[in-house]
Amino acid sequence: MVGALPAGEHSSPLQGWCVAHMPRSPRRNPQSQKARQLLSKGAFKAERNEVDLKFLNLIFPPKCVFCGEITKCDDGVCLSCRQNLPYCMARDVAAVEGENFVQAVSAFVYEGFVADSIYRFKERGCRWYAKSYAKYVKLAVEHYYGGIEFDYIVSAPISKGKLASRGYDQTKLIAKHLEREIGVTYLAGAIAKVRETRKQQGLSQLERKLNLTDAFEVLRRGEIEGRRILFVDDVFTTGSTAEECSYALIANGAAEVYVAAVAATLLTIEN
Ligand SMILES: [Zn+2]
Repeated sequence: MVGALPAGEHSSPLQGWCVAHMPRSPRRNPQSQKARQLLSKGAFKAERNEVDLKFLNLIFPPKCVFCGEITKCDDGVCLSCRQNLPYCMARDVAAVEGENFVQAVSAFVYEGFVADSIYRFKERGCRWYAKSYAKYVKLAVEHYYGGIEFDYIVSAPISKGKLASRGYDQTKLIAKHLEREIGVTYLAGAIAKVRETRKQQGLSQLERKLNLTDAFEVLRRGEIEGRRILFVDDVFTTGSTAEECSYALIANGAAEVYVAAVAATLLTIEN
């Protein structure tokens, strides 16, 4: 399983550069010459961006989103973490069934480096982690939901107050990257959180459910009707948010809802 993880090191932008790639002398045809100049400008710009990125990486080397060690890996995760992270699929954790969603799966067990990383992602402004997370959610989706065709990705919504204080919608960021990873359209703003709720942490399962009742409203009903939805969240704990959002989606015509999260508490998954 671990062997199937995204591979690859940054390749040097200068790799493969040789005399054969040097531009030839421009021809006399003015149109051709102008086209060459434009192409040359575009090529130069792209090349300069690559060099800029390389330069920035030298000054601010990318760090692993989980342990903080410097990494050259394309997915932002160092080799050590790749081998040692608590993957649900590597631990043979089964998908859980819900009342309103069909199944819920997760890339990681919510513990150690993963829990710390998600805390920084949500509370310390590390929004760029979303790109790395999406690559691993993709692996979980392929592993658990292989063969299922989804019509849309929908992300767990956050309240306006939380959006204002945090400055970004973290699950939206994951969903946007996941859209590119798995090629399923992300239906942004499909569901909204229409009232503030208490923090879920510390509440019993029943209290969590009551806390979220009628907290969500489907805004893009026409598009979700009869559709199979992949609902994306950052953390799956008791599943209350996924249940309530799935309830709203199904009540508004969605055919089926499947859930995928970055991390889940092992206890919940095993139940
Ligand atoms: Zn690491």
